[in-house]
Formats: sequence, C-alpha cells, structure tokens
Amino acid sequence: MSLKSTIHSAFEKHFGGDGIFYASAGRINLIGEHTDYNGGFVFPGAIDKVIMAEIRPNGTDKVRLYSIGFDEEVTFGLNEEDAPSQQWARYVFGVCRETIKRGFVVKGFDAVFDGNVPLGAGLSSSAALESCFAFALNDLFNNNTIEKFELAKIGQSTEHNYCGVNCGIMDQFASVFGKKDHLIRLDCRSLEYEYFPIVLNGYKLVLVDSVVKHELVDSPYNKRRESCERVAKRLGLETLRDATMEMLDAAKSDISAEDYSRAKFVIEEKERVLDVCDALGRGDIETVGKMMYATHNGLSKDYEVSCEELDYLNDIARECGVTGSRIMGGGFGGCTINLVSDEVYPKFIETVTAKFAEKYGHAPKIYDVVVSDGARRIEE
Ligand code: ADP
Ligand code: MG
Repeated sequence: MSLKSTIHSAFEKHFGGDGIFYASAGRINLIGEHTDYNGGFVFPGAIDKVIMAEIRPNGTDKVRLYSIGFDEEVTFGLNEEDAPSQQWARYVFGVCRETIKRGFVVKGFDAVFDGNVPLGAGLSSSAALESCFAFALNDLFNNNTIEKFELAKIGQSTEHNYCGVNCGIMDQFASVFGKKDHLIRLDCRSLEYEYFPIVLNGYKLVLVDSVVKHELVDSPYNKRRESCERVAKRLGLETLRDATMEMLDAAKSDISAEDYSRAKFVIEEKERVLDVCDALGRGDIETVGKMMYATHNGLSKDYEVSCEELDYLNDIARECGVTGSRIMGGGFGGCTINLVSDEVYPKFIETVTAKFAEKYGHAPKIYDVVVSDGARRIEE
C-alpha cells in the first residue's frame, strides 16, 4: 500500500472522513560540512523520502494526532504550555506553539501521519516532520501568508525549544525550499540562496549508513567551533568566511598546529562548495566527485571528525571506483554520501555491504536518494 493510502485508512479509522494531505522531505547535503557556523555555504536538497500527514480542522482548540509509526494517539490543547511527553508529538506541538508565538493562527485539528525518512540516519526526519506541519498550518489557517523562511525557522525553534537540539537552519531550510532536480546553495551568513539544477544522468546518490555513533567525552564539536573562532579573531575577522589560505599562512607562526588544520579545512571547504556549483553547471560530475573525496579527506585529516568505520567506507568506495564519497553530517559516525555511476553501483553495494559486515559485524544500511520536492500540499 502507498504511504498515502496507509495514512488515509488510519485517518478513516481514527477520525472518520477525509482530510487534506501534506508532505515534506528529508534532505541530503552534497557538500559544505562544518561551514554553517563559520558563515560559509552549504549545498543541500530535499529527497524522495517524506513525512506525510492527512489533516482536518476539528473546530475545537485541541489537536488530536495519531502516529502510525509509533501506533500512538496524543491529544494536546493549543493553549497549553506543557509539551506532550512523547517525543514524536513534541515536534508537532512545538510547531503549533512556535507558529502561535509569531502571531499566526492555529486552530484545532485531527491528523494522522507517517513517513519513510529513516529516523536518526542523518537525513533529518525531524525537519521533515516539522516542515510538513508548519507548511500545513500555513495553508490551512493562514492563507499561506507565512514566508517560507519563517516556516523553516518555526521548525528550527521547535528543535531548540521543545527537543533540546541546538541545530542550524539547513535541515528545515532544505525541507521547506527543496525542489525536484535542484540543490540549493545557502549562504549561511546572509541567508541568500540559489537553486542549481542537478542532472545525474547515469549516476545515483547513495547513502551508506554505518549505523555507528561514537559517544564522545570532551565535546569535540564545541572544540572545533572554538578553534575556528580563535583563528577568525586572530585574523581580525568575524568568521572564517572571509579568510583565505594566504591570510592563514601569514599568521601561521602564532596559531597552534591544531587550529591551523581546522581553519585550513574550513577555508578549503568554502571554495569546494563554489567549485562544485560551477562543475554542476558544466555537467562535470567527475569534478563534483573529486571534491567530495577532498572533503572527506579534509574532514578526516584536518578537521578530525571522522572515525575508523567512516574512513573504511570511504576506502571501499574509492576501491570500487565510486565517483565521489564523503562523510555527510557532523561526523564520528552516521552516513557517507556517495555519487555512484550506474555501472559501478551493483558492485559497490555488494562489496560495501560484505566488507563492512565482515569487519564490524553488522551490514551498513543503504539508502538510494533522488533530489525531489520539499514541503507541499498533495492535491491528487
Ligand atoms: P533525524 O536525524 O532523523 O532528524 P532526530 O533524532 O532528530 O533524527 O529525529 C527523529 C525523531 O523524529 C524520532 O525519534 C521521532 O520522534 C520523530 N520522527 C521522525 N520520523 C517520524 C515518523 N515517521 N513518525 C513519527 N515520528 C517521527
Ligand atoms: Mg533531526
């Protein structure tokens, strides 16, 4: 059964009748890692894995939600301050509250939802969930007067205020703004963005999830951030966005070797995003792939946020002749994103699955993704 019919059967059973369907997508980031907090660029896109909801206003000030995945129903009042205890419901509660907080209208509704974005795999199922409901509340109760950027921010604030996740804007941005066959280069300093067509004739995007997440003791993300801030300050800049390798080299003698490596990665990564955009414009997929490998190398050697498993996945990709491969996300576990030609694909999947399982005792999870539309109302 399709996602839509599964949702509709549950809707009929729980609430009866029909609602309106909305969906929003998970996301990938082709290149531009650890650049957001340095005022640089990211290059995400929405994918063909979504959260979908059937929703109908119910004329009360209460929201009744049924999650198919968790097989649970939750009711909350729109004027309540206390968030539901179920994590999945907190996302929807947060979106309602953040919408109201901004002075927009939210009325009671009944909703059933489900999705096929893998949870916690680095594809941002939570942003898909937030964006689906933020888009729906805008369409149902606000005549679509809430700007798209505000919808993304509603999702981001939900993570901050109701889920304890201090995330940037990229995930919600990609989920709301995503467009079929396009990636979006977002300038994390000015929040300007530009769509770039991505035509992958003869290639696929494949995520390989290591299914490991290393718990780290001394907050390495904060340390990376602090290194970047220290170097920026030393160079007299607000962020590393405006730094060049010449500037960094000129100041090398009074920067620690570690800070130097961190800043080098950030400066090079910023350039790589721009190079990838140019390469895509020329249809030069080979260069896109080379840049992805260079990013992996930088994340592993200079930024030091890789781990044995991710480096192993990268090595296997290279050996199999995969065009591009790199860590996607913060690092220390999670996924690699791979640009794989159709010829190499079957061999790569077979090899990476077998070799990884042999070494680590479990197979990685493989997700093929297609760059697709983000938040939308489903009419048909
Ligand atoms: P991710 O990296 O996928 O965003 P998170 O931990 O941030 O991982 O978000 C996952 C959470 O989002 C889940 O624990 C759940 O609360 C909610 N969620 C995601 N997808 C669904 C779904 N299909 N049904 C219900 N809740 C979901
Ligand atoms: Mg998330």
